[in-house]
Amino acid sequence: MTLLKSWVASANSAETQFPLNNLPYGVFSEADGPRRLGVAIGSQILDVARVANDLPVSAELLKDPRGWNGIMEQSPDVWAALRTALAQMLAIGAPERNDALISQADATLHMPFSVTEFTDFYAGKHHATNVGTMFRGAENALPPNWLHIPIGYNGRASSVVVSGTDIRRPWGQLKGPNDDAPRWGPSARFDIELEMGAIVAGASNGPISVDQADANIFGYVLLNDWSARDIQAWEYQPLGPFQAKATATTISPWIVTKAALEPFRCATPAREKELLPHLRDTGPMLYDIPLTVTLNGETIIRTNYKEMYYSAAQQLAHHTTSGCPMRTGDLLGSGTISGPQRENRGSLLELSWGGKEPFETASGTRSFIEDSDTLGLHGAAKGDGYTIGFGPCIGTVLPAHDDPFKG
Ligand code: CA
Repeated sequence: MTLLKSWVASANSAETQFPLNNLPYGVFSEADGPRRLGVAIGSQILDVARVANDLPVSAELLKDPRGWNGIMEQSPDVWAALRTALAQMLAIGAPERNDALISQADATLHMPFSVTEFTDFYAGKHHATNVGTMFRGAENALPPNWLHIPIGYNGRASSVVVSGTDIRRPWGQLKGPNDDAPRWGPSARFDIELEMGAIVAGASNGPISVDQADANIFGYVLLNDWSARDIQAWEYQPLGPFQAKATATTISPWIVTKAALEPFRCATPAREKELLPHLRDTGPMLYDIPLTVTLNGETIIRTNYKEMYYSAAQQLAHHTTSGCPMRTGDLLGSGTISGPQRENRGSLLELSWGGKEPFETASGTRSFIEDSDTLGLHGAAKGDGYTIGFGPCIGTVLPAHDDPFKG
């Protein structure tokens, strides 16, 4: 696969995140106008409702107030037909439809789909080992189940917000290892988690295979699972994170389809313990996507989605084993994506080793997030002369409110 050329000139560079090869789905508005469904192409957005007559789906689906849920509820054949029609419409030589283009610079981006339910996994081995070592010691770093099942917890769809949304530092019940009693206060160890989010489209009502799970994934976004480490350390045993992860989860604004990521498929790392048959890899189901984190514009973390131990397909298959129904619009967080080196650590908790090894940045010394810090997640798969980008996943942390229970 090489760069596919478009009549939209800005889409024809090796650097643009949105060449014709990508065609990601988002929701945008102009000024005070209504929200509309769009496809990113170069520096522009194609307003799909304006070209609905030339697309092989009902015009109503392209005006879905939920976002792209209506399209995701169709069959994979419809997804493929829509992608083919969009690629033909925007290809070089096709009639130019400048009347349907809006500059991204003039648009505000919104949630690209309505999140039905949100589950977050813990499927990066470097991350699980790092955090387990800090919380429980090196001997007990990986829980005994970790190499056998992708563990996770059911999160809150209500907490998922789009890139650009400000994040308010939360209050919570805090107790450090040397404190005699818990106290009530603003989190002083507020953090990011660099993750990918997989969007489930095909619904299921019982256990599905890893292959079926892969087929049921529509696309991917970047995902920042904001985490209050001091709340988490006190509350997490035995039922896992709760309020520590409930403040917000930010996703990038464009759904990059599984189809656009096909050239970047890669295998999961070697299995350290053989998985039970229903969770075994049946082919390459991870993706080679270089990822970075910026703090106030400076890159502080570099890693890659291919570092995950479990693919989203394995996570989804495991999620259904109990009979748990999955619905279109379900969002699955991968778990924090760290790598073997210090600069690959996908959270500040790991980068500062629990605050014991503060690190220098152009904005000053950091262990955790300071008020007014802007954190950004970035991801771009590199093909032969082209890039498949996600658009940034950005959030600025605002100071905690005054004590919400005082006076
Ligand atoms: Ca997480």
